[in-house]
Amino acid sequence: MIIMKFGGSSVADAQKIRHVASIIERAGKTARVGVVCSAMKGITDLLIEAATIAESGDAQYTVPLGTIRERTLAVIDDLFPDNSTIHTRIEKQLSELSDILHGIELVRECSPRSMDLIMSFGERMNNMIIAAFLNASGHKAEYIDTRKLIVTDAQFGNASVLLSESYKRIRQEIARINGIPVITGFIAATEQGYTTTLGRNGSDYTASLVGAALDSERVEIWTDVDGVLSADPRYVPNAFVLPEISIEDAMELSYFGAEVIHPYTMLPAVDRDIDIYIKNTLAPEVPGTRISRKAPASISPITGVASIESVALMNIEGGGMLGMPGVASKVFRILSEALVNVIMISQASSEHSICIVCRGKEIKKAETALRKGLEQELMSKKIQRIDIQNNLEIVAIVGKNMKGQPGISGRLFSALGNAGVNVLAIAQGSSERNISFVIQSKEREAALRTVHAAFLE
Ligand code: ASP
Ligand code: MG
Repeated sequence: MIIMKFGGSSVADAQKIRHVASIIERAGKTARVGVVCSAMKGITDLLIEAATIAESGDAQYTVPLGTIRERTLAVIDDLFPDNSTIHTRIEKQLSELSDILHGIELVRECSPRSMDLIMSFGERMNNMIIAAFLNASGHKAEYIDTRKLIVTDAQFGNASVLLSESYKRIRQEIARINGIPVITGFIAATEQGYTTTLGRNGSDYTASLVGAALDSERVEIWTDVDGVLSADPRYVPNAFVLPEISIEDAMELSYFGAEVIHPYTMLPAVDRDIDIYIKNTLAPEVPGTRISRKAPASISPITGVASIESVALMNIEGGGMLGMPGVASKVFRILSEALVNVIMISQASSEHSICIVCRGKEIKKAETALRKGLEQELMSKKIQRIDIQNNLEIVAIVGKNMKGQPGISGRLFSALGNAGVNVLAIAQGSSERNISFVIQSKEREAALRTVHAAFLE
């Protein structure tokens, strides 16, 4: 069996759904196919918007709800001009959604649990539509709601999957049906049956969970780019599609905002040794990128250049941190309690300062929490200062070939030096699969192009 996952942009309207159906049909000629789909592009955001407005007690939530309704009905009117069954089914979903939002407006409260329930409508409606369309085009297909199959903990919004129970249920359910299963991405449920979600863009992860449970031959992630690229093509004109990369490199690249694939996707695949393919819905003939355990070593020591935009750096400095265990732990505890996600850390062995990088939009929250949490240390001058720098970018060279190879960082930093790019902080883990550094956003293009040219051109 092969699992084909189509992202929101691949199934964004009626015409695209028709096109996706033709891709599924072609694949179905040579293999048994399972399909996982996201919500239509933009619908999850609209659902969140509607819930947020409703929570403030404002009846204007009906505006985004109306857009959801219009877009969904436009798709079914186009795909099924005279099929009343699917119209009734979708109307029922829309009215249930409307009732829930009205309830949120009245109680003025939208817990993460309610938010997950609301977000789940995007995947549910879209997969119902796609299953119905496949059936209407003469392929036996069955809509599968993963809330019955994927069991998670109760961390709403970003739930963790209970693997063995989920695998068992997926296997049982898929064995039961004989057509094409059309499976909701992104959504799951707790043991008690409360709807959960696997984190934004989590449908990729759903696809690999299903693939792993079924011991699939491969998992295909269909999106709107040709594959995983060697760098961000918006800034590096010479960026190219990587034909084959290792699972480790795919993880490194995706953690670094390559955003082609959700990083968790690789986890079940590593476990079961399943290859993942990144394919372009707009150009199905393009081979795409294959992510596998057996990826051949590339000629270059690095696989790609990754970058994260709009980050900020916090430098915590003070003589009192020297030889004092617990300062770092305190800093990270404060940040974690403030729900700030730390992307990069660097501390020199003089222990005089700790440098922390997070998303630019989280920096205010981080600074406030730290100034408050470290009040004592600041007053006693154990910590002398906390400095913030905004408008930065992390760039990373990634590749498992770097391991044990001397001279890589020399090459990297002399190339940057020659190009006049100033480096503010550096981090390399002992896995040696990633060297990350921070630069000012205005030097982004120069840095990315220089590094790409130095290693990959
Ligand atoms: N629809 C969800 C989101 O927008 C999940 C996904 O697209 O994979 O985050
Ligand atoms: Mg996606």
